[in-house]
Amino acid sequence: NILIEQTDPELWAAIQAENQRQEDHIELIASENYASPAVMAAQGTQLTNKYAEGYPGKRYYGGCEYVDVAEQLAIDRVKQLFGAEAANVQPHCGASANEAVFLAFLKPGDTIMGMSLAEGGHLTHGMALNMSGKWFNVVSYGLNEQEEIDYDAMERKAHECKPKLIIAGASAYSLRIDFERFAKVAKAVGAIFMVDMAHYAGLVAAGVYPNPVPHADVVTSTTHKSLRGPRGGIILMKAEHEKAINSAIFPGLQGGPLMHVIAAKAVAFKEALSPEFKAYQEQVAKNAVVMAETLTQRGLRIISGRTESHVMLVDLRSKGITGKEAEAVLGAAHMTINKNAIPNDPEKPFVTSGVRIGTPALTTRGFKEEETRITANLIADVLDNPRDEANLEAVRAKVAELTRRFPVYG
Ligand code: PLP
Repeated sequence: NILIEQTDPELWAAIQAENQRQEDHIELIASENYASPAVMAAQGTQLTNKYAEGYPGKRYYGGCEYVDVAEQLAIDRVKQLFGAEAANVQPHCGASANEAVFLAFLKPGDTIMGMSLAEGGHLTHGMALNMSGKWFNVVSYGLNEQEEIDYDAMERKAHECKPKLIIAGASAYSLRIDFERFAKVAKAVGAIFMVDMAHYAGLVAAGVYPNPVPHADVVTSTTHKSLRGPRGGIILMKAEHEKAINSAIFPGLQGGPLMHVIAAKAVAFKEALSPEFKAYQEQVAKNAVVMAETLTQRGLRIISGRTESHVMLVDLRSKGITGKEAEAVLGAAHMTINKNAIPNDPEKPFVTSGVRIGTPALTTRGFKEEETRITANLIADVLDNPRDEANLEAVRAKVAELTRRFPVYG
């Protein structure tokens, strides 16, 4: 680090400022977390220098004997963590993990079925401007009147449209997903069943959220959200799909794997196998319940009525503020969130009537129920009086008190 400071002070200043921002702000973005110093250290090693196209023991480059060890450790640990028959740890990110599954099983023009982006799904599950929406015929499912996944409608549509691939998984859905039900529908219509558990992976690893692995043909994930690893992706699969998926990642979609990131994934999977990680995820879920209950008491509506995970969507309309403005004023009060469309949102996607809130990051810095309750009340304090600078200043001071007591990296 001293080296960067000396050779590139301009960049160093930005890195330091970001580091300070992470310490000083309460992080509420549901897809973010703080990786451990060991995870970050692994990414800063000489493994970044190595080309290793191929897989352990079958590379297209010499000198791979040690990166083979690193990749095999990552594979073995992630299989153990989720009870998977096979794993690919090379996807550069969650989006490329999903694209690899499409490449392995589909041809352009095939029909896929995923959760609609407007009701909680992800871009890569068939949004019109994404490759998944441009190259495939997309049928979407969404929520029922109770704002729970409408499993009956999903089943009906699957029988009508006979998709080749059904995707379960979401970016903004707080409840448990019934993976078993999806699997039965996929089987009945002859579809490949894919789960994208990117958001829930950490909770799944700790047994706090249902594990899709026994039910799905393939399970994709990111490694940097609740799982608390480096920024990247993974694919878990039944052994029968290993060859197709591995060749879809390489040479289908990617070139050389990021061996330093794969090493960091190995570190993160080892951490996730520990009893401390289970306790951490249990606390993430407890904190989410406290967050949802406190916000409800303060007059905000939680979509689907509650959370059974790390995440919740909040309807802001009772406070007369848009998601865009809430993101800005909460940011000014040093609480970082993202605006998010709510079901049937009357506002445009760049404005929205909601925010998404998650508890993985604040739990990593040590917040328990009490600090989470304080944080929820501070959010509501801002939203009750968002244009009053003195109010924002008072909240900012209380946030500073909390963040000083719970440093992230010390
Ligand atoms: N899948 C889901 C469900 C996600 O929420 C996300 C990220 O927001 C992704 C995939 C994409 O991950 P990445 O940003 O690493 O491409």
